[in-house]
Amino acid sequence: MSNGAAATSLSGRLILDDRVASGRITIREGRIAEVDLDGGDLTGGGEPLIAPGYVDVHVHGWGGHDAMGDHAALDGMARALLRRGVTSFLPTAVSAPLPALAAFAERVRAWLPEATSDGAEPLGLNLEGPFLAAPKRGAHDLAALLVPSEAARTDLEPLLDGLRLITIAPELPGAPDLIRWFHDHGVTVSLGHSAATVDEARAGYAAGATGTTHLFNAMTGLDHRTPGLALAALLDERALVELIADGIHVHPGLWRLIERLKEPGRLVLVSDAVALAGTGDRVGRLGSLDVEIRGDRVTLAGTTTLAGSVLALDVAVRKLVEAGISIPAAIAAATRAPLALLGITDRGRLAVGQRADIVELDQNLSVRRVMRAGAWV
Ligand SMILES: [Zn+2]
Repeated sequence: MSNGAAATSLSGRLILDDRVASGRITIREGRIAEVDLDGGDLTGGGEPLIAPGYVDVHVHGWGGHDAMGDHAALDGMARALLRRGVTSFLPTAVSAPLPALAAFAERVRAWLPEATSDGAEPLGLNLEGPFLAAPKRGAHDLAALLVPSEAARTDLEPLLDGLRLITIAPELPGAPDLIRWFHDHGVTVSLGHSAATVDEARAGYAAGATGTTHLFNAMTGLDHRTPGLALAALLDERALVELIADGIHVHPGLWRLIERLKEPGRLVLVSDAVALAGTGDRVGRLGSLDVEIRGDRVTLAGTTTLAGSVLALDVAVRKLVEAGISIPAAIAAATRAPLALLGITDRGRLAVGQRADIVELDQNLSVRRVMRAGAWV
């Protein structure tokens, strides 16, 4: 541990906002105190790549641990994520009855101050639902879905403390008002699980939404006669877009389209992983529903409906780079972009004053070691 006044320094190929540069960073008291570029040769190889720690804002579980479980499950999930280079995350609920979501929020809130220090740091919580469109619910329980105009605000208030992100389908009755309400309470709203027309989707962004939940999945797309949420998300300059870059959820051919339309910092890699991820098991649960794995594909049991992933962000970053996206852009999608979605600026870049959450990667972008707040874990 090196969390005290003593300085730690790290040398390698630093992944900066817009380039990779040989150099050294010095860390004091958990923060980046100096960044020195030495102008060295980048082609020599062998030097580790130094990147900010990854941030997964949409993850339902990992390593056999479910985000909707108890404190031990949340600690287990945090530790499993950290091993994959994730230093910050949002435990993410799937749609459930409001009392169950309130209980989830309460469990996460109680856990936040005592979360394990050798895992990824929780930044709050994410609710994927329950204001989702039934025809695009994917792996969400139909019985748990709610319509915004029928939800009393007093029933939603118990969810607010610690809530950083919520998915809402903008075409539902009352959705623009609810989007505005969450936005006014400091919660980032992400549009998704939606059958919206392009105009309904635009109204959702105009009401204050800035996120897009797993672009292209469980939403109206780019059909040339009836374009929907995906088109609005790609063209709205305010909108950030989540991508599940496992090569299953969205064809890699479309990743390049997203990259051309979204400046770096607006493409957000998410895992959408389920608790089964990293366990090797073939069957498990997502919320109240049974899921199964064939290959790397997670589906609702007995169907072809995708139900999250077994992805981790280190793999997603690698896949983006293999698809031809630059290393700084791929790293931004796993670091400062998800943080920008939440309005967090104290970490996510290799720059003076930033919190020293860092991953050291080898030539193949595999995680070698992880630093959290200046301490190797
Ligand atoms: Zn989803």
